[in-house]
Amino acid sequence: MTRDPRYDILFEPVKIGPVTAKNRFYQAPHCNGMGRTFPSSMAAMRGVKAEGGWAVVSTEQTDIHPSSDFTPATECRLWSDRDIPYLARMCDAVHEHGALASTELVHNGKWAGNLYSREVPLFPTHMPVPTHNFPLQARAMNKADIRAYRRWHLDAAKRAQKAGFDIICCYAAHNLSLAGMFMLNRYNFRSDEYGGSLENRVRLFREIIEDTREAVGDSMGVIVRFAVDELRGAEGLEADKEGREIVEMLAELPDLWDVNIAEWHNDSMTSRFADEGYQEPFIEFVKKVTTKPVVAVGRYTTPDRMVSLINRGIVDMIGAARPSIADPFLPKKIEQGRIEDIRECIGCNICVAWDNMIAPMRCTQNPTNSEEWRRGWHPERIAPKTDDGLLLIVGAGPAGLEAALAAGRRGHDVVLAEGGPELGGRVTRESRLPGLGAWARVRDYRTYQISQMANVEVYKSSVLGMPEVLEFGAAHVAIATGARWRRDGYGRSHQFPIPGTDGGNVLSPDDIMAGLRPEGRVLVYDDDHYYMGSVVAEQLVADGHEVVLATPQSVVASWTEYTLEQHRIQARLLDLGVEIITSHALREITRESVSLNCVFSGKTRTVAATAVVMVVSRIPNDKLYQELVVEADRLSAAGIKTLRGIGDCHGPATIAAAVYEGHRFARELGEEVAQIPFRREITELSTEFDLP
Ligand code: ADP
Ligand code: SF4
Repeated sequence: MTRDPRYDILFEPVKIGPVTAKNRFYQAPHCNGMGRTFPSSMAAMRGVKAEGGWAVVSTEQTDIHPSSDFTPATECRLWSDRDIPYLARMCDAVHEHGALASTELVHNGKWAGNLYSREVPLFPTHMPVPTHNFPLQARAMNKADIRAYRRWHLDAAKRAQKAGFDIICCYAAHNLSLAGMFMLNRYNFRSDEYGGSLENRVRLFREIIEDTREAVGDSMGVIVRFAVDELRGAEGLEADKEGREIVEMLAELPDLWDVNIAEWHNDSMTSRFADEGYQEPFIEFVKKVTTKPVVAVGRYTTPDRMVSLINRGIVDMIGAARPSIADPFLPKKIEQGRIEDIRECIGCNICVAWDNMIAPMRCTQNPTNSEEWRRGWHPERIAPKTDDGLLLIVGAGPAGLEAALAAGRRGHDVVLAEGGPELGGRVTRESRLPGLGAWARVRDYRTYQISQMANVEVYKSSVLGMPEVLEFGAAHVAIATGARWRRDGYGRSHQFPIPGTDGGNVLSPDDIMAGLRPEGRVLVYDDDHYYMGSVVAEQLVADGHEVVLATPQSVVASWTEYTLEQHRIQARLLDLGVEIITSHALREITRESVSLNCVFSGKTRTVAATAVVMVVSRIPNDKLYQELVVEADRLSAAGIKTLRGIGDCHGPATIAAAVYEGHRFARELGEEVAQIPFRREITELSTEFDLP
């Protein structure tokens, strides 16, 4: 296939100072939970993106000095020459595919708690460290500190050059960078030449750009990443005030402007709260005030939208973090005219969550993400099958669909049997809840791909039981029959029967998704802490119910702190008039009321409610699997060599986990699997070891 000429413009080269990007696709810096701790995994993940056609592939933030130690987070680091080799490995992986390697140098200022280095954090003024509310303050930098900071930045830039990078990014975005913090009125009360007027507050950023250019600018691109607006009104930078003035002041200084909005929760909004291109109104002025190329992100996955951005003069390059995680081959697919093969990001922020939990990121749409090095999984290539025989998959939720797709790509003959009238399982059901529409992409990508494969047959409305499975003639069987929400309240807070849960006025999220509606005032009890409690509450409000949401946690949907959504979810529920009761666990349900116990004092309060939606935990639909697994002789007589439970039927978890399990099953089908099924990179012991 060849590309549609209307996308030609996306493949024009872009000059970034002395270096040239081969096309307009720019993988923006993004954290990944691997960084310096899992360096080969990080390097391979970046290399695969270069192979997928991104012209610029950047590291996540790279900290420059022990006083910017973000432990326990594991980003990249360039404190000394000893940090060069793993970054050189990344540069080599990126260069192998003709892409430019970029690194974003940072000093995290007050955010760096220096838990490992034990340095006193640095900041324009004296200020408590906000990270984890540590009992610790950052100290105001004096002139010597400022000179030292410039030196660290310069030294790190030179090391980046030695590592093989083509581009250095000077960072003033996300409220995560010292030079950016100096710009802000609410932080900078200095009376020296680094405080007061905007010119003075921007001085430090200007200096580090100039220093970098002087040191490496004849051979490397020197670019900036700058947040033009903080979405906090007059208290912060605003795109039509100082945000714009700063771009005007520095307009021609960098070789490229990478612009966005701060902080990270604004830059990486989920699809529940923002659509593709949501940053455009803030950044559209930038190209009007600089002749240098401009790049911006906005969860762009549609090539027509990208072309329109270029044609309307909004940006010169399409920035992407999450779309490049969900589909590292997005540019190649456009280039090759394979638009329908793009695996579009669903904007769920599972990737962000794992980084925030300081673990290698994972992706709902791309099960190979972070597995490129340790398991050798490529997002577009998969080994041919080594075992013949029909594969029967029961259940077409995310696990069953992905298993069918990946096994089909290996060349297996696959039958996918779905009991219901539609495909997609929980993804289809959940995508009809408020704000979750984009999640249907998990189904749509897979059903389209499968529809193109002659060796994968799909049957809907085909409920299979043990007799049907045994008679099918399959050599391999995967049971992907999902899970259902419990109504009895068993879960994190309750391991005993809650009085009243059998009273007929208790519903589950499955009931709500099936269209059942309770009578009267409803209490949603959320001991799950992810999205479900809050979207059920939203749905019930939309249906005209008066809604109370109670949770044993101190905030609504507490786990969504990791997906950067918590404050938005709580604000939305408050706006919708949902009564929120935190730090209370369910005690008893009657026909007219619900009693709750304070998790601290044990004191009981009673809330008027005639129905409860129990969002607590799920139980696998594994009856079929459990019936089959004990029948070794009958399985063997039926010619069934392997039987596996996958996805929520195996262990209820996220959609990302179900997709991963389906993929893993297909990769391992017919293969020997080692006890530790992936490579590990273990810290090399120092040759120096002497007791003090
Ligand atoms: P997962 O997240 O693990 O993929 P889901 O709950 O999303 O699980 O999907 C499970 C799918 O399995 C649902 O679409 C359901 O209709 C289907 N299913 C459950 N039991 C059977 C069965 N016995 N035969 C065929 N399909 C089934
Ligand atoms: Fe997109 Fe979700 Fe994948 Fe992150 S985890 S890249 S938000 S699909």
